[in-house]
Amino acid sequence: MRARGSLHHTPRVAPLFFQRRGMAGGTRMIRRNNQAAAFLSAFFVILAILLLSAPASRAQQPQAAPPAQSSAQSAAAPSPAGQVQGYTLTPGQEAQAITYARARHELYFLDVAYGFLLLVLLLQLRVAPAFRDWATQWTSNGFGQIVVFAPLLLVTIDVLSLPTAMWEHHLALQYRQSIQGWESWLVDWAKGEGVEIAIGILMVWILFAVIRKSSRNWWFYFWLAAVPLIILGAVIEPLIVEPLFYKFTPLASSQPHLAGRIEQVVARAGLQIPQSRMFEMNASTKRKDVNAYASGLGATKRVVVWDTSIQRMSEDEILFVFGHEMGHYVLGHVRDGILFSCAVLLLFLQLAYRVLHWMLARWGETWAIRGPDDLASLPVLLLLLTLFGFLFTPISNAYSRRLEHQADQYGLEVIHGLVPAAPVVAAHAFQILGEVDLEEPNPSAAVKFWFYNHPPLDERMRFAQTYDPWSQGRAPEFVK
Ligand SMILES: [Zn+2]
Repeated sequence: MRARGSLHHTPRVAPLFFQRRGMAGGTRMIRRNNQAAAFLSAFFVILAILLLSAPASRAQQPQAAPPAQSSAQSAAAPSPAGQVQGYTLTPGQEAQAITYARARHELYFLDVAYGFLLLVLLLQLRVAPAFRDWATQWTSNGFGQIVVFAPLLLVTIDVLSLPTAMWEHHLALQYRQSIQGWESWLVDWAKGEGVEIAIGILMVWILFAVIRKSSRNWWFYFWLAAVPLIILGAVIEPLIVEPLFYKFTPLASSQPHLAGRIEQVVARAGLQIPQSRMFEMNASTKRKDVNAYASGLGATKRVVVWDTSIQRMSEDEILFVFGHEMGHYVLGHVRDGILFSCAVLLLFLQLAYRVLHWMLARWGETWAIRGPDDLASLPVLLLLLTLFGFLFTPISNAYSRRLEHQADQYGLEVIHGLVPAAPVVAAHAFQILGEVDLEEPNPSAAVKFWFYNHPPLDERMRFAQTYDPWSQGRAPEFVK
């Protein structure tokens, strides 16, 4: 049950679109970015105003104030008539949640516009050609040139993007969504840069190798090369990257009872993960959100429970969170996400190929870029992929919401019979999640459309309390 993404909690090392699935909704930022950008930024600003005006008017007219008692309690104890409880916050929490959401959404569009302007500026000031010249003076070896060029360019972009990244962390601290101090945050940022540089060198090296091999079909060959990397990234990321940021200890020694019950849920799902493959992760050193999931393949298969879940939730609620994540795992959502990313990447690369050649024919001389096979063309390509990714955001979020809904349903099915009063437990887990993440109760349709990669909590809570194939004599869809 992962928090709304603060925009990049762990540094953004995931391949283009692939995103670890989690349980809470949210926003992501798009980083790095360029030219048609003058009018593009104007476009974003207009879009931002359109999107933000809706929640703004809502903020001024709060919903009928919920009772002052903890809304969590109200969800935990539905009326005897079986009345369905929605997601509510106390008036104070709600006001905070709304201002926090607005601040993040404004920052998101600002970051997008700023990122595009940054890339345009880099192009206009011929920064990449200067880096390319240094690289060629340094060595005549092609790979060596990339080892010099790629980190210079990537780090320049990321350092110049630091202000918005820091503002985001500042907001997270201000609204108590993060407890990570600045020093630790910067250390993580630097580690993230390290990972990104390593991956960046590899990708840029492949990219220019294929561009130089085939000026017409490089987009397809690059895609072929990227597919195994996307798969590898999706499978390996939790195994290699997460341990860079957190510590893992055996769950069975700290929470033997919980480990035993998770084993039951795992068995119910038709899987076998021994307790020796279950771990507790010290998420609480840096964050507040909760999560419990299964990941990995074959010998790397494992269960991870964030210690934040243990601090904030009852065992039954953790089991539901885990059931949801089991849903992603068992229903093959990682595989689906990989296929989706690969299909989208192919489309983007084809488009980027066409537009890149057109742009270079038009502005190549102004920007001192000699052609697509010139390393200095990289910022143009980054700009295009970022633009496509930005425009594609609502589609990938809609797709994500669909998977998240399936996982919710799976979670309810897999704990049915193992957890007493599962619908109430699930609803309460959502309520806690919303309070922990400070999720606004009534996002506007526009905000949901653009930002939500999970269904709004109110919908999820209501679904949890009304989904009941068992009493209707129907078979559950996923867990027989
Ligand atoms: Zn999920």
